Amino acid sequence: MSTEVSRLYVLLCGYEILEKTVSTRDRGGRFILAEPVSAYLLETARGLVLVDTGLNSALVHDPALREEHYTKQGIRPPVILPEHELACQLDRIGVRPADVGHVILTHMHLDHAGNLEMFQGARISVQRREHAYAFGPDHGPAWFERDYDLPGLRWDLVEGDWEAMPGVEVVSTRGHTPGHQSVVVELRDTGTVVLVGDAGDLAENFTEEILPGESVDDEAALASIRRLKQIARERRGALLLGHDPALVQALRLAPACYT
Ligand SMILES: [Zn+2]
Repeated sequence: MSTEVSRLYVLLCGYEILEKTVSTRDRGGRFILAEPVSAYLLETARGLVLVDTGLNSALVHDPALREEHYTKQGIRPPVILPEHELACQLDRIGVRPADVGHVILTHMHLDHAGNLEMFQGARISVQRREHAYAFGPDHGPAWFERDYDLPGLRWDLVEGDWEAMPGVEVVSTRGHTPGHQSVVVELRDTGTVVLVGDAGDLAENFTEEILPGESVDDEAALASIRRLKQIARERRGALLLGHDPALVQALRLAPACYT
């Protein structure tokens, strides 16, 4: 398969401290996990593409903002060390935020759509219904308007499956949120890598087809898990799970990369 992607970097953007049931429906409520938060940078023939933008550390480190966004909402503040900062990680691979021309958001939860203010010049692709939900009145506490309701962002509202370029296919995987999407990347040496987003956080979401803790449509969420498994199976590819604490330890993290 032809591809315009030369490199994939995995950016480790911090850790969330969560009951396991946040990831696996009705399973493991007595356990607290430190789940990694991941974003991905693609080096392509059409420029740099960032998939998800991590957590906004200002909302964690400023006491008043932390109280408003986390403590008061009953969400534990995540752990974001200096080396987890998105700008720091990009800098380590010689990239400035202004160099990123295209941002693809899997969805708009707080751990995937932070730091958007750094990407004012970029095209920001998100599913139309995800965008509408995020800007609507009914979203829950895991949606931080402060991160995305910003003047000057260049929204690109997409619907269903679409192709960013040869080697970067985006597939609709709604269910966890109204317009969740996942990114299928073709690499010359590594082969197919599926950036699942939060269609499933942990390996068991896929091996045992366990629903995510949160979903707006359980039937769609299960269909999305099965769809991603099928894509990986058909292309002999790998599912890349951004939140699995065990799997992340086996990944090549930036500044190393996959080619
Ligand atoms: Zn999510």
